[in-house]
Amino acid sequence: MQPPQAPHQQRRGQPQAPGHQQPQPPGQPQLPDQPPQPHRLKPMRSGKVRMRGRSDSGRRWQQEVELELARVLVEEQAAVIVNPHTIRRLFSNREFKKFIMERDRYTCYFCGEEGTTIDHLLPRAKGGHTTPANCVCACSACNQSKADRDVADFMSTLQRPLEERE
Ligand SMILES: [Zn+2]
Repeated sequence: MQPPQAPHQQRRGQPQAPGHQQPQPPGQPQLPDQPPQPHRLKPMRSGKVRMRGRSDSGRRWQQEVELELARVLVEEQAAVIVNPHTIRRLFSNREFKKFIMERDRYTCYFCGEEGTTIDHLLPRAKGGHTTPANCVCACSACNQSKADRDVADFMSTLQRPLEERE
């Protein structure tokens, strides 16, 4: 299993959700072995796609979402295709947090210290989604400092040499 490349190790690229990983204990969400195929999704007559999932308490829910959102969720490995009109969310909220923290080994993506929070690389305020591809473990200091800036913006303030500052 490949942890995401932290910027202090390598600056380019976004973390990849692990496509091939160790077998997990029963009851843990499984990422699909196949690469995501979001183009397989086709809208229903309503123009939307059905999305199913489970809450933290295990209760099943279902709603309709826009085709484009469904494709992003599949592409970024937050959901899998059940059939061309239906996707299934892989994680409840609690499962998602556990998945990200364990994938990133409780290490802040930005500074390498211990992380306890989840940060959206592309902030939700800028259209980012809560998906394995868009979320990383972060310490609360980095998370608060980054706030709604995107990663490149935040990293440039961290790493800009002093003499470049006006
Ligand atoms: Zn940090």
